[in-house]
Amino acid sequence: MLSEFFQSILQLLFPPGPYCYFCGSSLKSWEVYWCSRCKKEISINKGLQCRKCARFITGGEMCSFCQKDNYPFTVARSAGLYDGKLKEALQEFKFRGKRSLAKPLGRLLALEAIKDERFLEADLIIPVPMHRVKLAQRGYNQSELLAKEVAVKLGIPFEKDVLVKIRHTADMVGLGREERSKNLQGAFFVQDHNIVLQKSILLIDDIFTTGFTALSCSETLLKAGAKKVLVLTAASNFDIYS
Ligand SMILES: [Zn+2]
Ligand SMILES: [Zn+2]
Repeated sequence: MLSEFFQSILQLLFPPGPYCYFCGSSLKSWEVYWCSRCKKEISINKGLQCRKCARFITGGEMCSFCQKDNYPFTVARSAGLYDGKLKEALQEFKFRGKRSLAKPLGRLLALEAIKDERFLEADLIIPVPMHRVKLAQRGYNQSELLAKEVAVKLGIPFEKDVLVKIRHTADMVGLGREERSKNLQGAFFVQDHNIVLQKSILLIDDIFTTGFTALSCSETLLKAGAKKVLVLTAASNFDIYS
């Protein structure tokens, strides 16, 4: 009884601190959002990445896609490999309603952005949009939550309804390259060209996998008059085309 009493006194005096968003362990005073162990696990995933699209590669400077084709965006960066703790966190965030992960994940994106001046010079941050049917099902657009966090941290204006997804597209898993490209044709639409005209746009998404979403969004924004498009995601995959 006594020890319980003392425990509650102790808890009052020293309230349990903030916890790691990824593993739940309590944070040390110098740790922000995640513990050093989780942070290390994300950063050791950092290997060689394609200079253009940030897809993970085993050698050389570019992935097999970028060696042959040219994505319309200027450059894409991602904070880590879509694996381990980062993959778990992104799945919780996207599919299991854990919206609070927007903060630590958004910080991860912002830390990646500050490594490249071009990202800091962006005029506008916009999320990859979700079709309204899907948005109604999920209740939130995970890319929008991330984009908002990045915008606050970098001090760049944020616009959410500039780019809209007007066509519900099929799941791209199992589709070939041509089919993927066709699948997204005309899927996105710029509502107000004036907002993107001559602007450098920072496009935010959660994951860069096939690259076709980023490709299609960038193409749409450039056609609407954007000066350039930079892409930033929390995670990217290994070179899937090699
Ligand atoms: Zn942790
Ligand atoms: Zn590439």
